[in-house]
Amino acid sequence: MRTLIMKFGGSALGTTTALTQVLSIVLQEHERWERLLLVASALDGVTDQLIEAAHFAQIGSQRKYRRIVANLRSRHLTLIDNLPLGSHERATLQADIDRLLFDMLDQCQLFASRNDNKETVASRVDAIIGTGERLSTRIIAALLRKSNLRGIAIDASDFIITNNIHGHAAPDIALTKQRVSEHLLPIMGRNIIPVVTGFIGSTEQGNLTTLGRGGSDYTASILGVCTNADEIWIWSDVDGMMTGDPRILDGTHVIPTLSYEEVAELAYFGARILHNQMIVPLKEANIPLYIKNVFKPQEAGTLIHDIPHTKKNKFKAVTWIQGIGLRAQHSGPLSSILSVVDDTLYDITNAHADVTISSQSSTESFFAFVIPTSAGTDAIHNVQLTLQTRLAQNDNAQSWEVNPVTIITVIGQHDHIPTAVAELFSVLKEVTILAVAQGPSKCTLSIVVEPSTAEKTLALIHQFICDNL
Ligand code: ASP
Ligand code: MG
Repeated sequence: MRTLIMKFGGSALGTTTALTQVLSIVLQEHERWERLLLVASALDGVTDQLIEAAHFAQIGSQRKYRRIVANLRSRHLTLIDNLPLGSHERATLQADIDRLLFDMLDQCQLFASRNDNKETVASRVDAIIGTGERLSTRIIAALLRKSNLRGIAIDASDFIITNNIHGHAAPDIALTKQRVSEHLLPIMGRNIIPVVTGFIGSTEQGNLTTLGRGGSDYTASILGVCTNADEIWIWSDVDGMMTGDPRILDGTHVIPTLSYEEVAELAYFGARILHNQMIVPLKEANIPLYIKNVFKPQEAGTLIHDIPHTKKNKFKAVTWIQGIGLRAQHSGPLSSILSVVDDTLYDITNAHADVTISSQSSTESFFAFVIPTSAGTDAIHNVQLTLQTRLAQNDNAQSWEVNPVTIITVIGQHDHIPTAVAELFSVLKEVTILAVAQGPSKCTLSIVVEPSTAEKTLALIHQFICDNL
């Protein structure tokens, strides 16, 4: 049976206009596919507010988290007031929203009792920050029903089973597949459209978890694999994967097709469109992924699939990410430093360090690693300061200098890499490059520069890509 999964991001859900677009897209695709499954994020900005509420609850600022809940309530109620719903449907939805927000307030209140164990606290935080998806899915399902589609909101915590790394949980695909075939497939077979919460899952013991920021993409990919979907479409308010970051560069445009390897590297090296874990399962199951703009549904967007080798011969995109560079005026084994780096990064961002780039000469050692985008924008300063302090306390590590760097990565597969690299470097003569590395997938070349020269370097590389399209 032909199955399509469509995931709608927060930017495609925040307003009545956006939701009207969503509805018309679903009505159209419902005619074309035998089975349709929707995955929804929280409304635009809601998860940020929930994270703040969880923070205030943990420090006991009752007035502050209550205010956030009141704001969220009025935002969701105003939205449903403006949607074309019947009065009965609207009243039921209102009651659902109130119940979910009451549950969330209860969870906030519970932080006051101080003797909970770590797991309970972490799961409670996840339950709070996962409330946004439970709200949005109810609204979408009601909207579908009003248009005579059989939409049902379903919480993914019923069938996406994860480990207990709260905030960054990873799915157990075998268990999830089993639960999906028991609980979800029978519904899909009855011409019902499940509207599944993105972002959340639960441990085998039933404690709520979340999959990391932007995790609804990952939900779509997990469910794609577990339902044997034919295609996955990710809808947001951008036109597709772009040749560069449009906030910084002029003249960026949509990349029509990318291989799984290329897009995984793009996501890892800072392109903020996709969750960086979502590609691996899709590649294994060979499920094509489209990225499309909800406000321009007729445009092709970007297709990510298994590209035949003959078509791999281009730099397609340039991306950038913040990182930390460590330099010492001597050469020698890096292992003792690496464990300090890894522990520090893990304590602050919950992610392990990948040493992306390192270089050694007879007189100097240098290496740089990426700060995951999921860690937030201020993590870099925190990592830098903590690392400096910890290295200073370590007898073998006092000579290391720690500085922020920008890691610029060019993506695209090539048959003859040396020629491609030589051409690219010919436009970078004026740039001071701290280190260079080719990624293991052979479709990336990363260049480390000082943050102050990053914009200029990005612009030169982007121009080079556009000139060679
Ligand atoms: N709502 C969650 C977030 O903002 C998950 C998602 O949007 O994909 O990170
Ligand atoms: Mg996203």
